[in-house]
This record gives sequence, C-alpha cells and structure tokens, in this order.
Amino acid sequence: MSQTNDHSSRNHALLSPSTAHRWSKCTGSLTFEDNSEAGNAAKEGTQAHELLESLLTYTNVLTNDYPDDMVQHCMETAQKLKEFKDDLKQAGYVDITCWVEQPLKFNPYLFGICDYIVLAFNPLTKKHLLSIVDFKYGYKKVSVKDNLQLYLYGYLAAKRVADDEEEINKIEFKFRIIQPRINHDETIELNATELTNSIAGCIQLANFLNERNGNVPTNFSPGNHCTWCPGIGKCTAHHDYQLTNNLALIGKLPTPSKKEIKDKAAELSTTQQIQLFKNIPLIKELMDAVTNQLYVQAMNGVELPGVKLIRGVSKRKWVSDEKLVAKKLKALGIDKPFVTKKSLLNITDVEKRVGKGQIDSITHTPTPKVILVDDSEPGEQYYPKQELLNLITEIGE
Ligand code: SF4
Repeated sequence: MSQTNDHSSRNHALLSPSTAHRWSKCTGSLTFEDNSEAGNAAKEGTQAHELLESLLTYTNVLTNDYPDDMVQHCMETAQKLKEFKDDLKQAGYVDITCWVEQPLKFNPYLFGICDYIVLAFNPLTKKHLLSIVDFKYGYKKVSVKDNLQLYLYGYLAAKRVADDEEEINKIEFKFRIIQPRINHDETIELNATELTNSIAGCIQLANFLNERNGNVPTNFSPGNHCTWCPGIGKCTAHHDYQLTNNLALIGKLPTPSKKEIKDKAAELSTTQQIQLFKNIPLIKELMDAVTNQLYVQAMNGVELPGVKLIRGVSKRKWVSDEKLVAKKLKALGIDKPFVTKKSLLNITDVEKRVGKGQIDSITHTPTPKVILVDDSEPGEQYYPKQELLNLITEIGE
C-alpha cells in the first residue's frame, strides 16, 4: 500500500509542545508568527515522519518515492518500536496498546501530535506504564532529559488514558528519543510527580491563555532558547541581549593574542559558538561604529590613549595620462607587449557572442567550497556524509 498522511498541512498550536522550551521561558516569543517557509531539513523530517507512520500502520508500504537512506532509517526505527512492544510482553506486561501519530489536546491553545505512544499494564505492580517515543530525523542530538515537548505529550496522553489525577499519579512514564541518523537512542524514566512538576509552568500558561481568550502575556526574556525563535532579527530584547553578551565576551579579552582568541573560541560551547557566528554582522557593525567614533575624535585632535592615527599603506600607481606613460616607457626601450596585459574575456560575454553550449568543452565549474552561513540565508542545505563524520571522529580518537 502507498498510504501516507500529509503531515505538512497540520494545524499548529499557539502553545506547541515542540516550542515549549522557548515559550515556557519567553511568552513574548508567542507574539512572533513563524511565516518562514519550511527549509530542506524540515521538509525531509516531515517526509521521514510520514514514511515511519506508514511503516507502523500498514503492511507492504511502497518506499520507491523515498531516498534509500531514509527508508533504511525508518525501517530500523519501526523495527525498534516493534521490539519494544515484544520486550514489554516478555517482561509480563499486559493490555499493550500502541498509538501512532496520536493527536493530544489540553485546550485550544495547547495541543500537538505525538509520534508514538505505548500504554501497558504491569499486573505485578498494578501500575500502568506510559511510554512516549519521539522520532527525530535531524543530525543535531536532542536530549530526552528536561525535554518539555515529550513531557507535555506524556502528560496529555496520561490525561487521555486516566480518569483523574489520582490515576495519573499511579502511572510510570518512559520517554524515548530515537535519532537514527546519528545512532542516538535515549530513554529516561520519570514518575508522575516529577513529570507534573516539570510541566507545571506550561500548564499554568495554557490555563491562563484559555481564561483570557488567548491574550498572551508578553514578557520578553532572552536566553539560549532564542535560537530558532521567529522573533530573531525583530526582537529588541534579543538584540540587546546579544550585544551585551558580545561586549561581555570581548571585555573578557583585554589584550588577547591570536592564540588566546583561538583558545577562548575553543572553550565556548557549540551553542555559544553558533550565537556568536550568527552575530558576526552585529559584531562587525559594532566594531565599525566604534572605529568610526574614535576616528572622528582623533581627526578632531583628541588624544586617545593606546591608539593613534597613521598614514596607511599605499600602492604605487601609474600617472593617469597613459599616453605619457607609454611614451616614456618606449623611450626607455620597453615595447608595448610588455607593458599591457592580455586576458581572456569573461565567459558570459563570450557565450553571448558565440552561442550557448559552444564553449562547454573549454570551460568548467569547480565544485563550490562548503561554507557556513546563517540558516536564514538562501541556498540548499549541504549534509556531509555521516560516514565521513564517523571517520573523522575515529581518526580524532
Ligand atoms: S528572540 Fe528571544 S527574547 Fe525575543 S521573543 Fe524570541 S525567545 Fe523571546
């Protein structure tokens, strides 16, 4: 069968569990709408989820339309989930029920769709086990610990299967993330109290919004959670935060040597490095503004300790009267061919003259260098082969 469900047309909640790590810390982020078009990585993730759903739901799924590695990753994940169910049976659990791509709703503001849920009863402990599984198709490792997205799914699923809070308190929770592309498969267990404490703030906000018909309290609180916020670039709180951070970082390096700067960069966490990288234009802007202000002061005669005005380096040029230059050189015995440089016309101009395809055999396009850019920049995402990364890791060890 080739049944697939279109995941890209789903409605998104204002309090989406997938962005809970952000809105739980900064309600101001809810005022920014994400109008950006899904990038290649997001489209790929959606496609992989659709395939996994089909594999878990139907038999004889046609996989021809999917890339080979995606088929392999989804099949491996489907197999793991099947084995998980078998393991529960072996461990004596009964009444095992599984749900694939299950919609879960707390209220009109907080809802979402969970990839995979398993409910099972342990006759020995007389307790239910509720397992929430999230399939991630990205390369960036996502941890289960303190993962509000999974915890919220767990709580909403528990509310679905239990009659009241007392029943929820008897449930044991397992949260698992499977990331086949980076061989990441992590599980943690939580009891009901730990779970409800972790998501208490989220539930409070969902209730607050419901009481106020979605009127969002707009407290802007920048931090590491700002990464991927649609407010970046428009949010003044984030702009000020980054500026302060960058200044603080620069301030910590009084008169650094190049080596000290490199060492400092190596000490930063990946998140800090990404934040700095994304702020290179801002840092350049800051540096230009500082340079300009000091330059104006110095040119006005203000003495600045530790800095000075100098004449920059200047390259010798021919005088602008070319005829005079040629005459003089000829008089010095230098012939014309030696004083003028011949170079080929540019390819576009030549192709315009001789016609398209006529010069293909004498031109080539070198493979462009892979460069790192802010993900808001246009351009198809480049994925280095995972094997290559593994090889580099092995060599490094
Ligand atoms: S960029 Fe940061 S501070 Fe600004 S709205 Fe987003 S999460 Fe809040």
